[in-house]
Amino acid sequence: MSNHGAVAVCPGSYDPVTNGHVDIITRASRVFERVIVGVVNQPVRKEQTLFTAEERQGLLEQATTGLGNVEIAIFANLLVEFAREHQASAIVKGLRAISDFEYEFEMNQLNRKLAPEIESVFVMASAEYSFLSSTGVKEIATFGGDVSDLVPEHVAVALRDRLRR
Ligand code: ADP
Repeated sequence: MSNHGAVAVCPGSYDPVTNGHVDIITRASRVFERVIVGVVNQPVRKEQTLFTAEERQGLLEQATTGLGNVEIAIFANLLVEFAREHQASAIVKGLRAISDFEYEFEMNQLNRKLAPEIESVFVMASAEYSFLSSTGVKEIATFGGDVSDLVPEHVAVALRDRLRR
């Protein structure tokens, strides 16, 4: 196979990881030799995350223990630089709705300009997760709603603990 050894990065905030993320990471892990999940850590970002980058990394690690070719790394630099550091030839993103497309289309053009050797690959969300976002999960959990169908069990527990305070 010509892509033998191909590495992909899957970037995101993962605040926290949802079943939709796990679905995309799992599917990417079947296509690529190695998948590096990149957890964005931007202290300059305006909105505060609910979980620290290290906590988000830990939750992702637990969610992907069954996937031998997936690693979780934190990054705070430009995505294409992070991809280059890991010798990745692809950036994998999940696409939920048309609204994701607008943003991703623009980011893809910018990233391609910065790093023409890295291809962006878009994976369509599975139907059952196409309306699932970390923001939505946090909103439901904040008001005591049931998120057990939306996130792995340990993430539901972490959300309960964090939001109780
Ligand atoms: P969110 O929008 O949930 O905060 P992130 O910034 O952590 O997501 O997104 C990381 C990547 O995962 C992005 O490519 C995003 O489009 C994708 N993604 C997020 N939720 C889903 C889902 N339910 N199905 C498919 N892809 C998703």
